[in-house]
Amino acid sequence: MPLPKAELHLHIEGTLEPELAFELAARNGVELPYADTEELRKAYDFEDLQSFLNLYYELMAVLRTERDFEDLANAYLARAAAQGVRHAEIFFDPQAHIARGVEMGTVVDGLWRALGGSEARHGVSTQLILCFLRDESAESALRTLEAAKPYLDRIAGVGLDSAEVGHPPVKFREVYEAAAALGLRRVAHAGEEGPPEYIVEALDVLGVERIDHGLRCMESLELVERLVRDRVPLTLCPLSNVRLRTVDVLADHPLPAMLDAGLLCTVNSDDPAYFGGYAGDNFDAVRSALGLGEERLRELARNSFLASFLEHDEERRQRYLDEVESYEFS
Ligand SMILES: [Zn+2]
Repeated sequence: MPLPKAELHLHIEGTLEPELAFELAARNGVELPYADTEELRKAYDFEDLQSFLNLYYELMAVLRTERDFEDLANAYLARAAAQGVRHAEIFFDPQAHIARGVEMGTVVDGLWRALGGSEARHGVSTQLILCFLRDESAESALRTLEAAKPYLDRIAGVGLDSAEVGHPPVKFREVYEAAAALGLRRVAHAGEEGPPEYIVEALDVLGVERIDHGLRCMESLELVERLVRDRVPLTLCPLSNVRLRTVDVLADHPLPAMLDAGLLCTVNSDDPAYFGGYAGDNFDAVRSALGLGEERLRELARNSFLASFLEHDEERRQRYLDEVESYEFS
């Protein structure tokens, strides 16, 4: 049995495996510019974040109907459950779909067909987090939030993703204020490729409760002290960092130093179909490459539930935490 954990940094579009991409392409009559899954997999040798994003947006063309989004989410939930994920807070990128003529309702209703039955079917509780694309305009983000208003009973919070450098958090002040007024939780990617100042801005200007990635906080002692003091969770994605060349090799990942500094780190998969592994694979990878002992792994699992948005159900959180504490490593 794998270590129980929550996954807090997962883009549902990034769980599109080549096999499902080809299946959906055939179902929807979409032509992919790759002969087969093998040729597609060869395109996964990324230079940086932007080169990944180019393929990520290209493959989304196969997602057209509610059923496509339902199949995508069910495939992820089955894989996550098999790797010990008990709770998942799932990002989605509505602007990337709306731009292709796929409505907000198709995306949310489709995802919900899987998420609504996830506990019964997969044993995974879920929440949905709407992400704004930071390389799109602030006005587009505001229009997206407006389009999401009929679906807010199914959306727990908002996030900020896509190309980071040159798109500082402050650009999205207004939409985050509007999201807060609607009672939505707030997170943002910051300090992946962008500087530590973006992390400070995400906290001070956007009022986020968690930082996605946040790796580059280690460049500022003052910021690390603040994150430790305020118990701000960081959702790290080790395999993603290697594939996008944020770190050269996994053995160089700052995770051990970040834990030693007292940071509330979690381990997640980001875009697992593209980066070589799901949540459990990321745990296994840091265990072997970084030599993390059992208590460190238990700490990461505990942190994932402490950092999750389960305030409405503390009983559930405690149940998950009890599972972590009583877990016996094999
Ligand atoms: Zn991400």
